[in-house]
Amino acid sequence: MPNHPSSTLQRPPEALIRRFHLGQVGNDTVRTFLTKGYSLAICCRECPRLIEWTPEDLLEKFEHRVDVKIADIAARLSCTGVEGCGSKDVAVFPHLFDGAWSWTPPDR
Ligand SMILES: [Zn+2]
Repeated sequence: MPNHPSSTLQRPPEALIRRFHLGQVGNDTVRTFLTKGYSLAICCRECPRLIEWTPEDLLEKFEHRVDVKIADIAARLSCTGVEGCGSKDVAVFPHLFDGAWSWTPPDR
């Protein structure tokens, strides 16, 4: 279940989740997601769990390192939390965020 009330995010087809590998994410970073207004959809491969990190969540978690690669984040993710199974085997996909989002990159 998506954790964002108005989200249209659904778990991708099982075949897509099976075939997922980190190379698919390419060089995308948190900055890419924030710029394009994508949520990060995290799908556990061991249980039916689906987690959505909205752009807001991403900004909160990675505010000071927006250039971290999504692939590096995904490699460290696991299915945690109350309903989590604890597996480290997760697939991640971009999902166009359903809410309003605009982001101005901070000056450096
Ligand atoms: Zn799980």
